[in-house]
Amino acid sequence: MTTTASATSNALPLLLERVEVVSVDRLSPSFVRVELGSPALAEFGVEGPLLDQRIKLIFPGTDGLPDVAGIDEAAMAAWYARPAEERGHMRTYTVRDVRGTGADTRLVVDIVLHIGHGPVGPGAAWAEQVAVGDGVVVMAPRRGMPYGGIEFVPGAADRLLLAGDETAVPAIASILSALPADARGAAFLEVPLTADVQTLRHPEGVRVTWLPRDGAERGVAVMQAVLDHLGAPLELPPIDAVDDVDPDLWETPTYSSSGEDIDEAVSVVGHDLDGLYAWIAGESKVVTGLRRALVKDLEVDRRQVAFMGYWRLGVAMKS
Ligand SMILES: Cc1cc2nc3c(=O)[nH]c(=O)nc-3n(C[C@H](O)[C@H](O)[C@H](O)COP(=O)(O)OP(=O)(O)OC[C@H]3O[C@@H](n4cnc5c(N)ncnc54)[C@H](O)[C@@H]3O)c2cc1C
Repeated sequence: MTTTASATSNALPLLLERVEVVSVDRLSPSFVRVELGSPALAEFGVEGPLLDQRIKLIFPGTDGLPDVAGIDEAAMAAWYARPAEERGHMRTYTVRDVRGTGADTRLVVDIVLHIGHGPVGPGAAWAEQVAVGDGVVVMAPRRGMPYGGIEFVPGAADRLLLAGDETAVPAIASILSALPADARGAAFLEVPLTADVQTLRHPEGVRVTWLPRDGAERGVAVMQAVLDHLGAPLELPPIDAVDDVDPDLWETPTYSSSGEDIDEAVSVVGHDLDGLYAWIAGESKVVTGLRRALVKDLEVDRRQVAFMGYWRLGVAMKS
């Protein structure tokens, strides 16, 4: 490792640091796990468990990796104003785990390779060829400073529903590992292949169901599983019938990307979904379909659900 905390630390209220890949593990055909290390990560920290804590990774552009050592907010804004192709591509990932402490702190990130559907984006391309010693820039919470980026807020819910596709597997895995032993509920994880199924730590009362597509249409299995689980008397809408997809779909109890008034959208229907908290993330069209089913058709209270479009098929994410 060539960096030191004093050489890289900057005045930002978050960590923006060049880190080094210290291990690479091809978990399965669709997932690559990297461990990222730097003495600067000694300052990484969140209050409480990581849950679905998101971070940003910045992959090299035509000018390589940005030099972020000692950068301040003005220099960061100037860097960000440059074309992504030159200044580096920024993508969102989940902290799957944190290993080590102090200067040996390592962030574990599981990156989906997005095989077989369109051109490979910069994140997946980097993960496909990553090797120990490679560099990447990470933007992450600095201990003791507000950062945000955790959406899993079940409140007083007594029943959990977690559902997502391969990009949400790291977040669901991290949430499951942090739940109290008496938590109850279900998790549905749709992944590309049977070979992508992982062994996850989870409370006994939370049933974990893997749904490998193995060539079947994206989203069908997870949508059907969620509707069945809720006992919804609904027929699964064809995925193609889901239109008006917002690639940046983000509907949580505290934020609405569509500008919907959360209080006004609250259902007055009391039913056996009371006490449920649902956290659903993945490809935006699939998440949109599930949102319609839960909020519009089943009239689940908007304050009980978080719907997050983690990516959009055929659309490069904002950099
Ligand atoms: C809060 C959050 C947490 C996340 N956590 C994780 C995580 O832990 N692990 C993980 O792997 N992902 C995670 N994601 C999802 C990840 O950010 C996206 O999948 C992201 O798009 C990956 O970037 P990329 O460079 O590989 O693909 P992008 O460049 O963003 O492209 C996305 C897809 O669109 C297609 N595409 C791109 N350009 C074109 C084009 N011109 N024509 C046709 N198709 C195109 C590509 O096939 C690609 O698969 C998370 C997202 C969020 C919001």
